[in-house]
Formats: sequence, C-alpha cells, structure tokens
Amino acid sequence: MAKLALALHGGAGTILRSLMTAELEREYRGGLETALRVGWSVLKNGGSSLDAVESAVVSLEDFPLFNAGRGSVFTHDGKNEMDACIMDGARLRAGAVAFVRNVKNPIKLARLVMSRTEHVLLGGEGANQFAEQMGVEMADDAYFFTDHRYEQLLKARDAGIVQLDHSAVELRILDDMPGPDKPPEARIKGVETVTRSKGTVGAVACDSAGVLAAATSTGGMTNKKFGRIGDTPIVGSGNYADCRCAVSCTGYGEYFMLSVSAFDVAARMKYKDISLSQATAEVVEHLTAIGGEGGLIAVDSAGNVSLPFNSDGMYRGWIDSDGKTVTAVYD
Ligand code: ASP
Repeated sequence: MAKLALALHGGAGTILRSLMTAELEREYRGGLETALRVGWSVLKNGGSSLDAVESAVVSLEDFPLFNAGRGSVFTHDGKNEMDACIMDGARLRAGAVAFVRNVKNPIKLARLVMSRTEHVLLGGEGANQFAEQMGVEMADDAYFFTDHRYEQLLKARDAGIVQLDHSAVELRILDDMPGPDKPPEARIKGVETVTRSKGTVGAVACDSAGVLAAATSTGGMTNKKFGRIGDTPIVGSGNYADCRCAVSCTGYGEYFMLSVSAFDVAARMKYKDISLSQATAEVVEHLTAIGGEGGLIAVDSAGNVSLPFNSDGMYRGWIDSDGKTVTAVYD
C-alpha cells in the first residue's frame, strides 16, 4: 500500500505581511484546514486521489476568500470568468474548462469534461452549454459577488496605466497595423494594468494504490479582458499528473504557460532521473530566471510532497506521514 499524501494551495504572490492581520491569517488557514480534512477523509477511506483532489478543490472553491468559484475575481466588465483543470495520473486523462460563468464548482465541470466527453478542454459559451446539459449546479451572479473582489476591480480600473502593487501586471496594447519596418517597441500604443489576485486553488494527492492526481481552479486575474485564459486550464502548464508526479501551479499564469511548468516537473524527473524536490526546485528556478512569480505544489508516487515558491508567500497546506495537518503562508 502506497503512502497517502495530500497537499493544497490557495494561491501565491505578494502577500504583504503589513496587510495581513492575525484574524485574516486564521481565516485563510481555516479554509485550507477544512479542505485538507475533506480530501484526507477520501484518501483515508480508500478513495481515489482523483476524488480527493476534486473534493478538496470544491471545498476551496466554496470558501469566499480564495480566488476560485465563490470569491472569484472580476473581469474588466464586472463578470466572473473561471478556469479549472483536473488530471488523472494513472490513465493520463484530463478535463478542463476555460472562462465559464455561473458554474458553482468549475472543477466538477472539468471532471465531467474528462469523464463524459472525448475532449480535454471546453471554453466559454460551449462549456456553459455543456454544464447545462450535464445538470451541474449553477449559481447567480450574486453568489460569486464578494465586496473585496469588487473593490479590487474598481481600484484596478481606476488605476489605468498606474501600477497598483507588486502583483500588478502591465499589459502592453499593441498597434493593430504595424508598418513592416516598425520595431515592436514602436507598436506599443498604451499600457493597461491588471492585478493578479492571490487565491487560485489547487490540490495534489497520492492514494493507497500509488495513483496520483492534480486539480486546479481559478478566477484568473482582476480586470482581465478579451477572454484572457491563464495557465490553470492548460494541461501541462498550470496542472499536470502522470505516474511520477502530480503538480498544481499558482502565480502569474503567462510565465507558467511559457515554461510549461507543471509538465516540466514530470519531464525533469523522467529525463534527468532526479527527485521530486530537485525537479520542483529547478522549475521554480527557471520561472525566476524568465521573470515569473509564483509557486507550485507537487507529490510523487512515494508520497513525498514539495511546495516551492519564489513569491513573498503562498497559502498552502499538507498532511504529513503521521496524518498531521500543516498550513503555512510565508517562507
Ligand atoms: N495562475 C492564475 C492565472 O494566471 C492566477 C493565480 O495563480 O493566482 O490565471
């Protein structure tokens, strides 16, 4: 029987100690602990890693402080557009959804994409139609609305081209019709700021059969536009599982896509024959080298867990071999 393991994250980024109160930290940790208990009871009762990561992520999606499901950030138009992905490491099967609206638990829909369709990723209107067809639980806009997320949107909108904080990301708006001799810099006709909210959620697990699974869910970035999709629903970028490891990422999604981070952990383990902790450290090192910010959680088939990040903090939790629950925010 394999060693059971479960790790979760609730997002990584510039989690300023100056803005963190003892009470708020307790609330965040409470959300992580509840989700750990939910996922662990599935594993302890002989359930699969897939069921464990799905139920843990559902619990995190339902917790309004995290940026996934209820509590998702707002797009520029004041909507919630959510992304999610789940992957079964034993069968190399995955399901994902991108910019879905009003789906109470996007991770459940992602699982249905995996189990009920021949596809891997469904997006937008089509994904919502699929949700309707599957009869998944929907919720109205009021369910997703939280004051703190709406305030974030108003600030991000007002900020225009001004960078809000260290988590703010500048999007360069390029001229549509560049002359053939125009250098790329000359095409920049404006800069908009979006803020990346800390709070994407994820879970990785190893069950008693040694099968690994990963699940990740997010509202993406505050003030995002144009149907922006991050790394979360892209298999191999923000979420991946195979027979060696299961990985869930959080951070500035574009960099995770450019470095295909989640798959990179598995590839390094396979091609370099290195341990989980070495592979995850190398992946975060590479992320830092290309200017990315964030972290990841990972588990291998021996039940080892690794949770590295290069940001100020990462909301995270895991269950150690004695069944002890540990949660942490800072380094
Ligand atoms: N990776 C997510 C995205 O870019 C955001 C996050 O992890 O906070 O959509």
